Amino acid sequence: MTIYSIRVQGDPVLHRRAAEVRDFDEDLLRLVADMHETNAAANGVGLAAPQIGVSLRVFVYAMDNDDGVPPQGVLVNPSLVLGKISGNSPDPDDEAEGCLSVPGDHFPLKRAEWVRVNGFDAYGNKVEFEATEWFARCMQHEYDHLDGKLYVDKLVDRYKRKARRSAKDNGWGVPGLSWTPGIDPDPFGH
Ligand SMILES: [Zn+2]
Repeated sequence: MTIYSIRVQGDPVLHRRAAEVRDFDEDLLRLVADMHETNAAANGVGLAAPQIGVSLRVFVYAMDNDDGVPPQGVLVNPSLVLGKISGNSPDPDDEAEGCLSVPGDHFPLKRAEWVRVNGFDAYGNKVEFEATEWFARCMQHEYDHLDGKLYVDKLVDRYKRKARRSAKDNGWGVPGLSWTPGIDPDPFGH
């Protein structure tokens, strides 16, 4: 198996819509296995294929949940139905999100507290479940990657400005930047 480098904000693959998976074949199984390994090496709770430079609608997650869903899994060609998203200000303590492609940063963002997830596993079997709380947040975050959206694109103005400043200070926002789990220091200090 292979641990991939993780693309950083600004790499074009992170900012375009990924393509549907058409073939549930050996290549897909290998991709999913490598994504699980890369996510584990990065101490991530989720990883979408575009983050390793593969523009396909696939994400893996590793997160305990209260929804009776296996704590580790994959979604291929997923669709989401979202519950209501509160219009309140996001709570900087309880709603701070992070992303392996925005390494080291955390900013708060309102998300739906409930989602219904539909999709397929790596063998083409249908997968369907409901997710709540942080597991629901994880599903929304990873799904957004497949549409070329990062969580920092969705922040309210106040935090969007901070995120922009951080990206500028870090020299992000240009193609070709990445970091490698297990080789580069863990950006979130795990
Ligand atoms: Zn992310």
